[in-house]
Amino acid sequence: MPLNEKYEAVIGLEVHAQLSTKSKIFCGCSTEFGNEANSNVCPVCLGMPGVLPVLNKQVVEYTIRMGLATHCTIAPKSIFARKNYFYPDLPKGYQISQYEEPICRHGYVDIELNDGSTKRIGVTRIHMEEDAGKSIHDMDTDTLVDVNRCGVPLMEIVSEPDMRSAHEAYQYLYSIWQTVKYLGICDGNMEEGSLRCDANISVRLKGEMTFGTKTEVKNMNSFRNVERAIEYEINRQIQMLEDGERIIQQTLLWDAANNVVLPMRSKEEAHDYRYFPDPDLVPVIVEEKWIEEAKRLLPELPAQRRSRFIDQFNLPKYDAGVLTQERELAEYFENTVNGLVKKSSDNYKTISNWIMTDVLRVVNESKMAFADFSVTPSHLAAMVNLIIEGTISGKIAKEVFDEMLKTKEHPKVIVERKGLTQISDTSAIEKEIDAILSKFPNEISRYRSGEVKLMGFFVGETMKVMKGKANPKVVNEILQKKLSV
Ligand code: ADP
Ligand code: ZN
Ligand code: MG
Repeated sequence: MPLNEKYEAVIGLEVHAQLSTKSKIFCGCSTEFGNEANSNVCPVCLGMPGVLPVLNKQVVEYTIRMGLATHCTIAPKSIFARKNYFYPDLPKGYQISQYEEPICRHGYVDIELNDGSTKRIGVTRIHMEEDAGKSIHDMDTDTLVDVNRCGVPLMEIVSEPDMRSAHEAYQYLYSIWQTVKYLGICDGNMEEGSLRCDANISVRLKGEMTFGTKTEVKNMNSFRNVERAIEYEINRQIQMLEDGERIIQQTLLWDAANNVVLPMRSKEEAHDYRYFPDPDLVPVIVEEKWIEEAKRLLPELPAQRRSRFIDQFNLPKYDAGVLTQERELAEYFENTVNGLVKKSSDNYKTISNWIMTDVLRVVNESKMAFADFSVTPSHLAAMVNLIIEGTISGKIAKEVFDEMLKTKEHPKVIVERKGLTQISDTSAIEKEIDAILSKFPNEISRYRSGEVKLMGFFVGETMKVMKGKANPKVVNEILQKKLSV
């Protein structure tokens, strides 16, 4: 039996999302990324004696939003605790976090599996905490410390050990990423560390009831790395068990350059954090009214939007998934649809195709925001309208689209300036076709004796002569008629 059928992986993720507030969680310092080292600091986030932290209300608001989006219960009262450990990037000597009484509990995320079914992954808890600073090991012979990040607000989302493969973990993380972006509470940038994921992994023989010993893999800064690191660690553990060895509980780092996990230095191994309630912070009280208001303000979430796209626009599941990947993209699609002269499933699908291929190609290549994209939804709609009305063919539209990218002009202006109007005049097209057919008597008899794929050849020749401007529908009709005789 292949090993991956004999064993089963068990995975739980701890995801840290940096909340996109302007100021830090317990002081007024800026959270801006990339400023001069140690400039975004004050006595509070440096942990000077005698200072008092004051909770940033926006951090609570954002965490409530995430809790609601993941179907958690929001605690009416939650507590901040000190997590004590010694490290140079933590000037206070402790990190303020939530421990026994987090703000959100008992939620879930539904993920989509390859066979189209959904699976429910439990969310154990979501809590608020502050980030630590950053140690820099490669700029000097000594280790340097930048504490700008101290006190930047984080939300930690802890899952139940419900995932059974690297792919499921990927889908779960993707759903978290999509949700924080839809909620506008985190920019989701994994390379810059705004979204970080630690994976807890164990394996067991299939059918076994208890979990095996887990390891924790850190330091994966992209979706691809998360999937690869988990895959690697599952296989490593299976191999160890097969060799009769025991798994040791430890923290590992993913080394993306070499595609391996390495044991981490012992900083995290000493696991006694001596948590205790922070005496400087009052309990976080969330009244029902606040929760109701947050619920009311919750935007439509990715999964809802996707199923609405399927129902309302009759789009294939695949299209709906791509178009709702990001909120701005979904909005771009809906705004384009609004500009259609004729609302129909076919036309929605035409717009979907244009966005999934041409628009996304340019946007992804240039990594630009939709707001900066030179083809506005109303211009794209106007271009599709020209196709619907028969003014231009789909092929000519590609030329119009490229020109719109360059000049930002209205498609009508481009069509007129470049003389791209489609020719639908039957007699004009017929004249060209007659001329072409007289040049290819052999092809005609081959076509008539059953080589029907030559139709493409005749259409191509006609389009070539007419510089792509002939209405393809009319061309096809005339050719069918003339060739069938
Ligand atoms: P720790 O005490 O090491 O922090 P927790 O029980 O708090 O462990 O769980 C941390 C994360 O590890 C959670 O996401 C949880 O789902 C996951 N987890 C717990 N036990 C296992 C296991 N045996 N295998 C895989 N993941 C696990
Ligand atoms: Zn500060
Ligand atoms: Mg834990």
